[in-house]
Amino acid sequence: MNDRLPAPGAASQTANARLDIRSGLRYGHDVISMCPQCLLTIPGRVLSTAAGVVMQKTCPEHGAFESLIATDIASYERMRQAPRFVKLPARVAMPEAKGCPDDCGLCPAHEQHTCLAIVEITTRCNLPCPVCLADATAKGPELSREQVLSSLQTLIDTEGQPVPLQFAGGEPTLHPDLIDIVRGARDLGYGKMEIDSNGLLLARDPRLAIELRAAGLTGVYLQMDGLAAAENVFIRGRDLRAEKLQAIIHCRDAGLQVVLAVTVVPGVNDQALWSLIQFAAEQRLTGINFQPVVLSGRFPSELEQGHRRFTATHFLRAIEAQSGGALRAADLMPMSCPDPRCGLLAYIVVDRDGKLLPLNRLVGDERLKKHVAEMSDWDVLLRQLGCDSAGCGCGDGDVREQLASVLEGAELFSVGFHGMMDALCFDQERARRCCVHKLTADGKLMPFCLYNMKYRPQGC
Ligand SMILES: [Zn+2]
Repeated sequence: MNDRLPAPGAASQTANARLDIRSGLRYGHDVISMCPQCLLTIPGRVLSTAAGVVMQKTCPEHGAFESLIATDIASYERMRQAPRFVKLPARVAMPEAKGCPDDCGLCPAHEQHTCLAIVEITTRCNLPCPVCLADATAKGPELSREQVLSSLQTLIDTEGQPVPLQFAGGEPTLHPDLIDIVRGARDLGYGKMEIDSNGLLLARDPRLAIELRAAGLTGVYLQMDGLAAAENVFIRGRDLRAEKLQAIIHCRDAGLQVVLAVTVVPGVNDQALWSLIQFAAEQRLTGINFQPVVLSGRFPSELEQGHRRFTATHFLRAIEAQSGGALRAADLMPMSCPDPRCGLLAYIVVDRDGKLLPLNRLVGDERLKKHVAEMSDWDVLLRQLGCDSAGCGCGDGDVREQLASVLEGAELFSVGFHGMMDALCFDQERARRCCVHKLTADGKLMPFCLYNMKYRPQGC
């Protein structure tokens, strides 16, 4: 079937053939994807070209599409072949009728439970960002407290227990009942809860962070894209640096964990990744997470995603180069849950002098795999690392001793990467393994990327 797919260009086909002959490797694998224009499910193929690893596919009506998905085969395969941890939800919510991805809710074809549920409590936002996944505007509907708590009860029934939550939007701090919603979720048994916020209202009034913390909120996923004015203006429409810093101070003072959420736009802020990591570490934040821009929602027309996509392997190369090796590609481990191509994570110790020490170099990758899959908090991770049985011969007791000396006076930090998909690079296998799910008002769960490209109501 794939032989019939028209090539997007004779030149790239020729380059591909040459590459195969030189390496002796005929690389490629089939995928199930979709047309980025009509969203029809269509076959595709991942293969190597001179431009990098690409996905090619053809819609019978809209023609051929090609999207870059990795810099090189070795880096792509390191992620693709990484081990997976699989856990299914306690209950299947939807029957499978039309087939994946058309019965999303989740149906029996889904291969992973929910690690993080995203609850978009309002569609309203107080920033008209040129780049916006949700295409949020100043006006729009929001969920009532009762709707949110009812969907959270359904989530407990599906998962068998409460899972980490992210209240999002729009801008969740605009919801008049946000504090009551957080309190209600805590009463249902939810423990780990964050808001995905632009920080503007958190910056304006220190009491908001204090009240949210008292209601049970544990963290803020604070969107921040750069330390230079121009990066802020391009991605968010204006210079927000002072407000972000004020929001950080208020959240930290209130005892909320802060993780910076960076939207990476190639050519705009992809050269500033290491400086953002250093900033977040200096600010004693919990971590930083990078999410490249995708072709969903509001997206400036000048940003091309076919061959200029910033992928996970671009991220690995950029981090190693920008940090001068302080953080290496090997320090960022593919996440074993969801699909390892979707996420990377490094646990990092920041010593008294501000020097970053990736934990895998101290304890080895093997000991961290389970924690990377589960995104364990540091207290869980440190409790489980090493061995309590002195002299048992496993060697893990030494690790605990070494750790104790390194951790003295140090701060704990993490660096993550979340490579979201859009319809141009959609891979059904990755979607089926997704564990970051949008929770709808009626209690359905959908892979967040898939929701953005196929199910999000237009104009909300
Ligand atoms: Zn089409």
